[in-house]
Amino acid sequence: MPVDVVVIGGGIGGLANACALSGAGYSVRVLERAPEFGEIGAGLQMAPNATRVLREWGLLDEVLGRGVSPRRLVLRDAVDEEELTRLEFDGEFTGRYKAPYVVIHRSDLLDVLVRACVRAGAELVPGCEVHDAATTDEGAVAYSGLGEHHARLVVVADGLRSRLRARFSDDEPVCAGYAAYRGAFPVEQIDLEPEALETVVGYVGPGCHLIQYPLRGGRMFNTVAVFKSPAYDRGEADWGGPEELEAAFADCGPKVRAGLKSLSLTRRWPMYDRLPIPNWTEGRLVLTGDAAHPMLQYLAQGACQAIEDAHCLATELAADPDWSVALKRYEAARTARTAHVQTTSRLWGEIWHIDGVGRLLRNALFRQRALHDYTHVDWLYGFNES
Ligand SMILES: Cc1cc2nc3c(=O)[nH]c(=O)nc-3n(C[C@H](O)[C@H](O)[C@H](O)COP(=O)(O)OP(=O)(O)OC[C@H]3O[C@@H](n4cnc5c(N)ncnc54)[C@H](O)[C@@H]3O)c2cc1C
Repeated sequence: MPVDVVVIGGGIGGLANACALSGAGYSVRVLERAPEFGEIGAGLQMAPNATRVLREWGLLDEVLGRGVSPRRLVLRDAVDEEELTRLEFDGEFTGRYKAPYVVIHRSDLLDVLVRACVRAGAELVPGCEVHDAATTDEGAVAYSGLGEHHARLVVVADGLRSRLRARFSDDEPVCAGYAAYRGAFPVEQIDLEPEALETVVGYVGPGCHLIQYPLRGGRMFNTVAVFKSPAYDRGEADWGGPEELEAAFADCGPKVRAGLKSLSLTRRWPMYDRLPIPNWTEGRLVLTGDAAHPMLQYLAQGACQAIEDAHCLATELAADPDWSVALKRYEAARTARTAHVQTTSRLWGEIWHIDGVGRLLRNALFRQRALHDYTHVDWLYGFNES
């Protein structure tokens, strides 16, 4: 049966779109190649630019119930572990951005989105790999092993290695030569100071950083370690192994080095992004999420931007009966916004990982920042605030 919208990919980006569009009254089918809807990995930070949207969709209370609303974000130097600056998530912060900062396990966020989609009547189809998609006279079609799926619109949400992005651009993912290891463990298994259970802390060091925060109401603790791989720079195929992880953090302080014990070493995530592209629409095919704007994770915004995409697409489609016009408006708004976030994420990584005199200057500048100076986050967290 044709539907209004087919979404290719059931990650956070695809499901956010399905949630927004089914909530707006459209019939939606999500095609996911994995045998079930789920997320691997650990925690996710959700800034107010995304939690404002989740509240509009009626999901913020559920998200808060599953995650943690931390009291602050603290940035420290990874070598001497001195505090550089902090963002207090106090009344002034939530008043300014009209929504909280939340940290949540990825699988919990996905579950909230799946339930919202089901409640709104979206059809979720796991085990359905899409091979191709095309624009038709009536709309668009996705071709899968399970058959053809006709719709007025096909939303392409198949992630960083999107097969269908080739219809829009001939670019490839760009490897940063950095790798990440993650871990999420019950708090009983980790030696923690009480402040750790209400704080997002980031230790930034030469060619490496470590992020930690609580999950699941403070019952779990999340750690992510990211580092530059010398083996990658030497052109070796096998790079970013645990021995490189240890070496990258060898000069860091004791808390940072202790944090490495809270990682799961069975899987490594190589860091990739892509350069921004200006065209996200081809007839009735449209890009979203990492398929459209994969970014390095230094601003913790990839999933937040996918949620912004979904909100924008649903708003534009509802506002204009001519979907060609609505899609162009979506493309104009979202390519500009996400290009800014993508390029700033790269720059932020350079600042975090700088060594030598640059590190000293960075630290001096961060320390000068007044506690309630929001100059560097207004553009990000205050986007489209009404
Ligand atoms: C270390 C790290 C930390 C991060 N931290 C944060 C953070 O704190 N905050 C934040 O906002 N973002 C963060 N991100 C980014 C965030 O994880 C991604 O931006 C987000 O998950 C992208 O979602 P997506 O649905 O667009 O893509 P994906 O999650 O890649 O989902 C794509 C889906 O499409 C499916 N699929 C692929 N091909 C096909 C096909 N042919 N047919 C059918 N289905 C298909 C896949 O199975 C998958 O389910 C982080 C990323 C990393 C690597």
